[in-house]
Amino acid sequence: MEPVLTLADLDSWSFEGTALAVLGHPIKHSISPLMHNAALARMAVTEAKFSSWRYFRFDVPPDDLPNALERLHAAGFFGLNLTVPHKVLAFDLINRVDPAAMPIGAVNTLRRTVSGWEGFNTDGYGLATAVDETLRIGITDTPVILLGAGGAARGAAVECLQRGCRSLSVANRTAANREALLQQVAAVAPEIPLHGFNPAAPPHDLPEKALVINATSAGLHVDDPLPIEISALPPPAGVYDMIYNPAETKLLAAARSQGIPSANGLSMLVHQGVRALEIWSGATVPVEAMATAVADAK
Ligand code: NDP
Repeated sequence: MEPVLTLADLDSWSFEGTALAVLGHPIKHSISPLMHNAALARMAVTEAKFSSWRYFRFDVPPDDLPNALERLHAAGFFGLNLTVPHKVLAFDLINRVDPAAMPIGAVNTLRRTVSGWEGFNTDGYGLATAVDETLRIGITDTPVILLGAGGAARGAAVECLQRGCRSLSVANRTAANREALLQQVAAVAPEIPLHGFNPAAPPHDLPEKALVINATSAGLHVDDPLPIEISALPPPAGVYDMIYNPAETKLLAAARSQGIPSANGLSMLVHQGVRALEIWSGATVPVEAMATAVADAK
């Protein structure tokens, strides 16, 4: 695994190949370097130039992000991934934002330009591809019940609306955050029914056969409460939990015990990474190599 670097390591930076990196705080849990370096090694078998590409990881506290983006650009880095807490912060620090990422207000992938960075958000693509791959559910024309109103939920909401979901119902325990999300995404697809509700009291008119997406962080810790009682919903078509560690949250265990198809967030992690590497390399990315690397890391 790549060591955890800090900005101080740039004082004596001498890597001559094409450098990529993930920035986060904390970052020591990140398996992105494993995943990307596995893909690059595979890509190098058929295209030699990729043997000089390498993906690093940097611990960057939020206050240091502006300085980090400048210094990594000056040091010649070609691409960056951003994770907690940088996705929203970076949005206002870069030169150009991909139009599809504008309504999200957050970026997770930066590509070098001559004068700075251009930003993309590949989380939504990762989610939609993962849901299709693991649950065989296409978002287009499917009713979606989205749990959460933080950064990941905002990205998921925009993706679902951009892909033409049949309806979007957003459940979040804090009403103010729920309302803020609904307001932020309202203009993305005004023709699609969009509602919010309190997960402790789901309304009776929720759609049947919905795709339930957990974008809350409830489930990261063993003593976290369920983000929603699935049995209080009309029978869903499937449950996708963005959390991948633990591999089975209480929500996924409940879905399994009720016979509802379900999957964890590992496939989303892989596919957001695939799209990022496609953006940087312009090449076909070996999805299997990345999926195997993250599965082995668990
Ligand atoms: P944020 O901190 O921005 O949002 C957290 C959300 O979780 C809020 O809606 C919050 O509700 C809710 N929440 C937190 N604790 C509880 C609880 N005990 N009960 C009910 N709701 C709770 O986090 P992110 O949006 O960045 O991330 C959310 C999750 O998605 C994380 O678990 C993250 O690991 C995962 N993720 C996975 C990815 C992948 O590739 N698989 C990619 C990105 C994220 P409230 O507003 O009420 O505080």
